[in-house]
Amino acid sequence: MKIARAFLLVTVSLLAASCAGIVSHRSPPGVTVDLVPKGMYARRIYRPMRPTFITIHATENRSRGAGAYSHAQMLKRGSLKGEHNAIGYIGWHFTIDDHSTYQSLPTNERGEHADYDGQGNRSSIGIEMCENRGNDRARTLDRTARLTAWLIKEHGIPLSRVVPHMHWRMIRHDDHRDLGHKKCPHFLLDNGRLGPKWNAFLAKVESYRRAL
Ligand SMILES: [Zn+2]
Repeated sequence: MKIARAFLLVTVSLLAASCAGIVSHRSPPGVTVDLVPKGMYARRIYRPMRPTFITIHATENRSRGAGAYSHAQMLKRGSLKGEHNAIGYIGWHFTIDDHSTYQSLPTNERGEHADYDGQGNRSSIGIEMCENRGNDRARTLDRTARLTAWLIKEHGIPLSRVVPHMHWRMIRHDDHRDLGHKKCPHFLLDNGRLGPKWNAFLAKVESYRRAL
């Protein structure tokens, strides 16, 4: 009798979980999963997220060797501090260069890459494009568009919710200082604004999405 009741409880709770909608956290194809260790640094506190936006960034790191692998290692070792945010570390989901993509956070956990306590961090998957010397920008952009296409399909995110970092207003966590809108990713903006470059990127995402 006891066993039967326990079984029933398990069944009911599984049903409840499926009704609530299971958030996908599958990793995209061709991605090296090299996560920040659970419970540490950018994952110091477990903060689940249901992604409804994708935020595109550029690293602005021109050092030689500052590709996807080295950024993933910095995140993994807690080298990137977030002095003014709630968790003390910076973190995002994917880093892309011209030949590789690394995943540092599961897509169902929130990062710290966009706007401190704002909706950007609370609801978006963060993608950083590398710009280290020698890295091919066109290839990096192409790979980013492909990954974005896969992610919007996987999570049912509309193209209108693929946004540049500049979309989000940055108000610091600790002193509430308003930093406004960062001009990121700078090479997809036209004179600091959304224009033909951003539209071309979205068109590329859409064409890859249609092909999936
Ligand atoms: Zn950014």
